Amino acid sequence: MKCMICKHGETKKGTTTVTLEKGSSTIVFKEVPAQICDNCGEKYIDEATTKELLNKAREIVKNGVEVDIRKYEIAA
Ligand SMILES: [Zn+2]
Repeated sequence: MKCMICKHGETKKGTTTVTLEKGSSTIVFKEVPAQICDNCGEKYIDEATTKELLNKAREIVKNGVEVDIRKYEIAA
C-alpha cells in the first residue's frame, strides 16, 4: 500500500520492534510483523497484531515484570 505519512513510498512486508510502556513496566516485542515504508521508514502494524500485543502486555504486567524483552510469536 502507499505510505500515508510521506505519500511517496510503498510499504513492504517486514518486521519491527515494538516497545510498550505500562505503568512501571516496559515490554519490548521483537520481530513484530509490519508493513514498512521503503521511503520514510514508517511502520504500519495491523489491528489484529496490535490487539495481540496489548493482550500479551497486559498479562506480562499482571505478573509484575518490570522489563520484558521477547520475540513476538504469531498466533496460529
Ligand atoms: Zn513513507
